[in-house]
Amino acid sequence: MKYRKMPGSPERLSALGLGLMRLPTAKDGKIDEPRVLEMLQYAVDNGVNYFDTAWVYHRGESEQVLGKFVAQNDRSKFYIATKLPCWMVKQESDAADYLEKQLEKLQTDYIDYYLLHSLHDTAWKEMRRLKVPAWLEKARSDGKIRHIGFSFHDKYPVFKKIVNGFDWEFCQFMFNYLDTHYQAGLNGYRLAVEKCLGVIAMEPLRGGKLVQSIPLDIESVWKKSSHAWTPVQRALNWVWDHPGCTVALSGMSSLEQLQENVRLANSAKAGLLDEKELKIYNRARLEYLRRIPVPCSECGYCLPCPHKVAIPEVFGHYNEAVMFNQKRRHKQEYLAWIPEDSRADKCVNCGACVPKCTQQINIPERMKDVAKYFSEDKE
Ligand code: SF4
Ligand code: SF4
Repeated sequence: MKYRKMPGSPERLSALGLGLMRLPTAKDGKIDEPRVLEMLQYAVDNGVNYFDTAWVYHRGESEQVLGKFVAQNDRSKFYIATKLPCWMVKQESDAADYLEKQLEKLQTDYIDYYLLHSLHDTAWKEMRRLKVPAWLEKARSDGKIRHIGFSFHDKYPVFKKIVNGFDWEFCQFMFNYLDTHYQAGLNGYRLAVEKCLGVIAMEPLRGGKLVQSIPLDIESVWKKSSHAWTPVQRALNWVWDHPGCTVALSGMSSLEQLQENVRLANSAKAGLLDEKELKIYNRARLEYLRRIPVPCSECGYCLPCPHKVAIPEVFGHYNEAVMFNQKRRHKQEYLAWIPEDSRADKCVNCGACVPKCTQQINIPERMKDVAKYFSEDKE
């Protein structure tokens, strides 16, 4: 296993971190505990020392199963990262209550890497209003948490504001070759490095979308590469190519995936990609973006729709389905996450949203396309 130093700390974290948000489950939907414990053991035995969980993962079971592993193993062999569910913190005492419960579930006296979960502009304002930053510092001086960070989902200017708004030690954001200009992106990476923050890269495979059903036009771009890499290898190597990326955090669902990722992490290296290769990655990125059928930036200015259509979300699912050539998966997500009365087929063509669209999209016309696309089963 290769290790990278956490800035400002002597700790060396494994280049691969095990994310515990997409664990194998049994038929009843609960975590398949024996399989997860086997994965955790394999990870530790093979040098992975960063386990990332959260209060909400697997409806709370993720922290619990990690706690079982902690109780049976040498705690000094790995670092635990978990997160405060910011959106559930409603009063000043809530943060401390969650942390106490997390320590209990994780069967430990301290959390190594503690994050404010999923910060965005509004959440950060709320955390400040509830004096959570000061509470984090106290929890650290009490020894209950050791390093303070945040995970992030918003635009770069908000990332910059948050980074500059507190004395963080590390940050976690989506970092992969497709999203270089999305959310924190490469600008966020550069700022984090400049500020000497540890960078935990999440979604290095974009939730698996960069490695499954790769469209033919993208495949033809990769043929120009001088490396005969697998899609997983390509995606992880791009992340590890960045020396300031401390950990590539991947949510793994099977021992086989973990074994493959560990094998790749054994040769993780910064500076592996020369200029020609980086151009190929960029070409692949542009090809993905070119496939997006509706240029919706998901800004939300068109809302509210008087007929409750969830316009940006609907376009988001449609765009990803077409972009990644993964209709079946996205159709399931579309049906699961968008309530029936807010789907594309509920658009009545009233036109109220059209003048508000920042991208001049003919929304009702495109809603027809989306409704048709998701009503048909053919790929
Ligand atoms: S045109 Fe359709 S999506 Fe737009 S506001 Fe009217 S019903 Fe909603
Ligand atoms: S205003 Fe246009 S670009 Fe913004 S979310 Fe609505 S449809 Fe998308």
